[in-house]
Amino acid sequence: MKGLIELTANERDPVMLRNYLDLMMNNLNKQEEFIKEIINFSRNKKTEIQRELVNLSKVINQSISQHQYMSGSADIRIDQEIDLDVIQSDPLRLEIIINNLLSNAIKYSDPTKDKKQIMIKTFKKGHHCVLEFTDNGIGIKKDHLNRIFELFFVADPDHKGTGLGLYIVKETVGKLKGTIRVESERGLGSKFIIIIPVDG
Ligand code: ADP
Repeated sequence: MKGLIELTANERDPVMLRNYLDLMMNNLNKQEEFIKEIINFSRNKKTEIQRELVNLSKVINQSISQHQYMSGSADIRIDQEIDLDVIQSDPLRLEIIINNLLSNAIKYSDPTKDKKQIMIKTFKKGHHCVLEFTDNGIGIKKDHLNRIFELFFVADPDHKGTGLGLYIVKETVGKLKGTIRVESERGLGSKFIIIIPVDG
């Protein structure tokens, strides 16, 4: 950022100035994401688990509206099927999980597809709540599938990520005594499945 600011200060060409501003915006977006993730990480580590009634639809809708200005999100249709709404859980941790999965589904949408879609489903299975995030984005290569939950793993280093998000999601799901798994095919899309207890 400092280098870019210096370049901008000495530049007069409006096209170059526009370029530098775009680079600064990208850079700040990445820094913002990194800071948010570090905060989530420490919150998840330090705070006790809460057990209260949570409206999943409310958390999901809040997350959708928080992401509406994220780059690329305007072209994506987001649908929901909420067959289970109220559960007893930790609202903060659910927020961390839902925000990260939605943000990835938007970030890794496939620019070559005309109809970009994300489907969010919640339903009950025995004493558990299942949350599914399905996208028709770029998908994940087979040999990366079992690495995406590792700390700092990024499939494509030129891409926009920090490699923290899914690590934090996995830790957070673990705190809720749940499980997470992924099904994905490169070029077709991905589905993240989270299973947590309905009563904390
Ligand atoms: P990042 O900050 O890189 O997004 P994550 O830990 O959230 O870090 O994700 C790790 C890697 O998993 C990403 O770099 C990306 O390659 C892949 N990934 C995560 N979610 C998706 C998705 N919905 N579609 C395709 N790839 C994904």
